[in-house]
Amino acid sequence: MARLVMKFGGTSVADLDRIRNVARHVKREVNAGHQVAVVVSAMAGATNQLVAWCREAAPLHDAREYDAVVASGEQVTSGLLALVLEGMGINARSWQGWQLPILTSDAHGAARILDVNGAELVKRFKERGQVAVISGFQGMHKETGRITTLGRGGSDTSAVAIAAAIGAERCDIYTDVDGVYTTDPRVVPRARRLDKIAYEEMLELASLGAKVMQVRSVELGMVQSVRIFVRSSFDDPEGIDPRAEPPGTLICGEEEIVEQQVVTGIAFSKDEAQISIRRVADKPGVAAAIFGPLAEANINVDMIVQNVSSDGATTDLTFTVPAADYQRATDVLTRAKGQIGYDRLDGATDVAKVSVIGVGMRSHAGVAARAFKALAQRNINIRAITTSEIKFSLLIDANYTELAVRTLHSLYDLDKT
Ligand code: ASP
Ligand code: MG
Repeated sequence: MARLVMKFGGTSVADLDRIRNVARHVKREVNAGHQVAVVVSAMAGATNQLVAWCREAAPLHDAREYDAVVASGEQVTSGLLALVLEGMGINARSWQGWQLPILTSDAHGAARILDVNGAELVKRFKERGQVAVISGFQGMHKETGRITTLGRGGSDTSAVAIAAAIGAERCDIYTDVDGVYTTDPRVVPRARRLDKIAYEEMLELASLGAKVMQVRSVELGMVQSVRIFVRSSFDDPEGIDPRAEPPGTLICGEEEIVEQQVVTGIAFSKDEAQISIRRVADKPGVAAAIFGPLAEANINVDMIVQNVSSDGATTDLTFTVPAADYQRATDVLTRAKGQIGYDRLDGATDVAKVSVIGVGMRSHAGVAARAFKALAQRNINIRAITTSEIKFSLLIDANYTELAVRTLHSLYDLDKT
């Protein structure tokens, strides 16, 4: 017998048929003797609709009322799933964040989970054999008692927090893909599903835009050592042996990964823009003068490359921003030209960032050097490079994105055989 969290995202509960399908997945695990807490998202599209209504009602809405409205999507799903489970003869009860409670900070719209009352769930597993169906995405502020939400995609974080609170063996994330891939299979048909990926690698992938899981949920899983298993809700519920290893990807600690590859995955993003500031003064305070106003404008700066000045007076500085913020960023910098002091602003929006990720890079030298060589052979020019302990990122012309990703995917032996 194991204790499990089963989390189902919006597409997995999109309508009543899908909810019935979810119930059959739950039934399989219950019949196998497991204690189960289910965490559900709102039905696909529901949250978007609720957010749109808030905006329409009041463009500058009160975040507390926004939370009251948007949390309702999950309330519907948890109630419906509990109804369907009961109809199948499974003892189940729904829980809203405030009922359990799941206590959070007061950052309405982006609240942090502080505490989950796991004891009540465990008691009901033991005394009543009851399945808990919990609304994801929501909680209650610990002082005011008001409903809070955790930010878009937050039910992943709910699921991981609940798994930690009840000491679950695994947190199963059922979604519309069957795991985490070495790269986007739409770009590289030979992309492979990973059996396992380390928390840190998944964090990089998620931050770089792999939409499988909310970044914060992976962070929480890493801190709390929750084993997270990404799997498909579209698999036939009865076709799976609950005692055998189902297809999917386990996100876990590095020590659980025996055959560690040097490179685990390749991520890429075309939503990047490059800004180069030419002949900016090489003196203390210049970086602050540039990035301060951008931060104030809430523009997220990513790669930053500054050269060492050759004349001791001026240098060039290049960085990237999300393509959607490009115009705003150049406006901000043009306005601040007086304070910053530079010659010229160059920019490009037809650029892409390709990132190569793997914890194995910590102990292997020359991983990036191989990429530079392989890309050179394909005549792909690299505009900027940044590195960290387990990742390096290359800025290239967007036209070459697919070619670069495919080249690197085979270079690091990630292709499906
Ligand atoms: N329903 C929420 C959203 O769409 C939370 C979630 O699905 O994780 O963002
Ligand atoms: Mg999601």
